[in-house]
Amino acid sequence: MSVCGAQPVVDYAGALTRVAELTARQLDVFECLGRGMSNRQIAAGLGISEYTVKVHIGKIIDVLGLDSRLQIGIVAYIHMTGCSCGVAEHGAVV
Ligand SMILES: [Zn+2]
Repeated sequence: MSVCGAQPVVDYAGALTRVAELTARQLDVFECLGRGMSNRQIAAGLGISEYTVKVHIGKIIDVLGLDSRLQIGIVAYIHMTGCSCGVAEHGAVV
């Protein structure tokens, strides 16, 4: 076991149950984070400003009950590799 312990301190399963509450645009940003994209890359990819990306990230953190964009990225990666969140469309990471 690492010095940090074996169990996540984040409720990833709970966050996944709330993915279905994201708006379509929030879901776009969410999946970009799951691909490991920077705010600049997300802004360019979606044709929005970096400021708007940050606003979306703040909302996603609120909706999913998380604390950071890193945690969003982890939840998004799990979602995109196929989970039981209830969202019909799962983005693919590969
Ligand atoms: Zn999912």
